[in-house]
Amino acid sequence: MRAVVITRTGGPDVLEYTEAPDPRPGPTDLLVRVQAAGINYIDTYFRSGAYPRELPYVPGDEGAGVVEEIGSDVTDIRVGDRVAWASAPGSYAELAVVPVAAAVPVPDGVDFPRAASVLLQGMTAHYLVESTYAAVSGDTVLVHAGAGGVGLLLTQLAVAKGVEVITTVSSDDKDALSRDAGASHVLRYDDDIAARVRDITRGEGVAAVYDGVGRTTFDASLDSVRIRGTVALFGAASGPVPPVDPQRLNKAGSVFLTRPTLAHHIRDRAELEWRGGAVMGAVANGTLSVRVEHRYPLAEARRAHTDLEARRTTGSLVLEP
Ligand code: NDP
Repeated sequence: MRAVVITRTGGPDVLEYTEAPDPRPGPTDLLVRVQAAGINYIDTYFRSGAYPRELPYVPGDEGAGVVEEIGSDVTDIRVGDRVAWASAPGSYAELAVVPVAAAVPVPDGVDFPRAASVLLQGMTAHYLVESTYAAVSGDTVLVHAGAGGVGLLLTQLAVAKGVEVITTVSSDDKDALSRDAGASHVLRYDDDIAARVRDITRGEGVAAVYDGVGRTTFDASLDSVRIRGTVALFGAASGPVPPVDPQRLNKAGSVFLTRPTLAHHIRDRAELEWRGGAVMGAVANGTLSVRVEHRYPLAEARRAHTDLEARRTTGSLVLEP
């Protein structure tokens, strides 16, 4: 098969489009013909070496495609079924082995590019707004990188619950997209974010900050949250946050700081079905709009990573074999 392979860590140029052996499914696996692979910011952390992963490997944990073969113990999925996944390593390829426990059915009416790019970011948005801080109608929250993959989905899920959403973005185009997704107030990173948030919330601060940007936004996040509010630091698009003195949480108002990750929120099949079903169902019935703004041939993974890291992208990105 053709696949993208990483043999050393580094910049986008370490993504090599090449011939690789076909993977073989085990008894509880599916062999899937990949129709689209989702590109996520975390793929860049593994590629650069910021997060460790054993070399060599085929990157990408997310995708969607058609089941070509099933393992001997698989009973509830058939050859020809359409499935998506958010946690099966080796997705930047023509063929991927997907553990049946990680597979989510793709409903009719959801195409492969959307199915391949919505699950990981959508389930992340879902756990943040349903579990990390379960926002309720009447709350105001702050979402950084509001026009990004997670940002657009998180904004829509929060607004659907009657939550007022403030976002940050870096350009006028991204401002318009974030407003389209339902943000009531869109700020720029060089605004005095905490002061603007205090103005909007009449001095109170927001119930929660969902911060996937990290190093450059963390201080503003802590200054924007209300007493006993939550700062969910779920990513580091601008780099990791330096160590934090717990006393700062006291000063900020007995604030809850958490660094959550998706794997801890899809711990068993029931949880995956809940979050995956909610996300796919919302896409299928049109209540969650997925913007697959950037579709690249599999051979152009380097260009896709370069665009993502240069902040040239909005919404979701996919690679198509
Ligand atoms: P995005 O599409 O949001 O891309 C990242 C965005 O971050 C950029 O478009 C940019 O938007 C913004 N940004 C701000 N500062 C920088 C910077 N210095 N360099 C690059 N980008 C910057 O990516 P994803 O939706 O895939 O992921 C968003 C975040 O969520 C990432 O940090 C990712 O690691 C994290 N994540 C965490 C998960 C978890 O469970 N913990 C799961 C999934 C994602 P702008 O130009 O508007 O600033």
